[in-house]
Amino acid sequence: MPSKTALAVTIGVLLAGVATVPASAAVPAVPASAAVPAAARQVLAPDDGWAAATTGTTGGAAADDAHVFVVRNRAELAAALAGGTDPTPRIVLIAGTIRANEDDSGAPLTCADYADPAYSLDAYLAAYDPAVWGRATRPTGPLEEARARSARNQGARINLRVGANTTIYGLPNARIVGGNLLIQNVDNVIVRNLRLEDAADCFPSWDPTDGSAGNWNSAYDLITLTGATHVWADHNTLSDGNNVDENQPLYFGRPYQVHDGALDVIRASDYVTISYNVFQEHDKTMLIGSTNTVGADVGKLRVTVHHNKFANVGQRVPRVRFGQVDVYNNYYYLTDEDTYSYSWGVGVQSAIYAENNFLLRSADLAFEDFVYDWGGTAITEIGTLTRVGTGPVRAVDLLAEYNAAHDPDLGTDAGWTPVLRPGPITPTAQVPAVVNAQAGAGRI
Ligand code: CA
Ligand code: CA
Repeated sequence: MPSKTALAVTIGVLLAGVATVPASAAVPAVPASAAVPAAARQVLAPDDGWAAATTGTTGGAAADDAHVFVVRNRAELAAALAGGTDPTPRIVLIAGTIRANEDDSGAPLTCADYADPAYSLDAYLAAYDPAVWGRATRPTGPLEEARARSARNQGARINLRVGANTTIYGLPNARIVGGNLLIQNVDNVIVRNLRLEDAADCFPSWDPTDGSAGNWNSAYDLITLTGATHVWADHNTLSDGNNVDENQPLYFGRPYQVHDGALDVIRASDYVTISYNVFQEHDKTMLIGSTNTVGADVGKLRVTVHHNKFANVGQRVPRVRFGQVDVYNNYYYLTDEDTYSYSWGVGVQSAIYAENNFLLRSADLAFEDFVYDWGGTAITEIGTLTRVGTGPVRAVDLLAEYNAAHDPDLGTDAGWTPVLRPGPITPTAQVPAVVNAQAGAGRI
């Protein structure tokens, strides 16, 4: 395996002219001043959401020249991230398309490369067919163990651990395909200006006990925050890329779901701001809190979600447990009722404060479906506007629509009022134009 020194080429070393660069990794002749956009050193503005609380979020802004990396493939990215274990401030600039499913020499890896010799999908389908296995218990036994070993092989490759005090910033047209940025038990991380696509799981697991008909579940998100604090995800575009769920087969009558979350915030993560991102063509979009267990999440999972575009995403936008979550000035663009489940998931001890969000919908998408009660008690909603297509804009109370159609009713007061906002919020009528013009990668 090539050394980290050879792969993780630093701009500082380049400028000194002493880097040993492998022939396969030609380095663009870009001066540091051009290669490090000012936005890559930007810190979260004061009061800009929960990530601005206490110490604020600065990511790798303090990086010295030796810790500014330009990376163009998975091996370089992994080396620059140093396994997520080195808290030295660093800025990792993504150049071009990085494919997480490739080996250290840059050769593509397929699902067959990860598969344990004892695993095949055909054998798994035969063993755990409900007609054979039943529906009472999850799969166990040699084939499930072989599936889990296969999954571990893939996870070791595509889970990219991000350390404390890190900024990951996309240079023009930067993209990570097939990877899961794993921000685990660290503080102070910024991810900006990046396209993230299709962290497909080669080995979904069948769970006949999930829901009324069972489900195929996958392991990877595009970005996962687990036990992470002070994280700012800004101006990214997250999607399933060219591997959309509709193209997957049904097995046991259920969709073979190869994707998990787009950006999940779990396990006592806290102080998070998710701003000006585009989430599109994805199902399970943003899970905040992964368990109903009253434990470490209580008093945590505080997240601000503002000026994002949610374009034809299916569910969990967000789905919240425990956290005080400020959801304001987001643009919900929902024109495909076939893939739509719900948007605001009101879970156990959740406290969603939703203000000045705009919903553009198809006429077939029912207002009463926008809120879903996952065991919560209340949600605050102020200032929602909606329209169908180019029709008239009008006010709507999505919580009242929910309560009119469902019992028990949810209360109208989530019990807190956000204060961490950088200034006056956007009038709802202006949200589509503002978000369309500014959200997503390539707009900084
Ligand atoms: Ca997840
Ligand atoms: Ca009711």
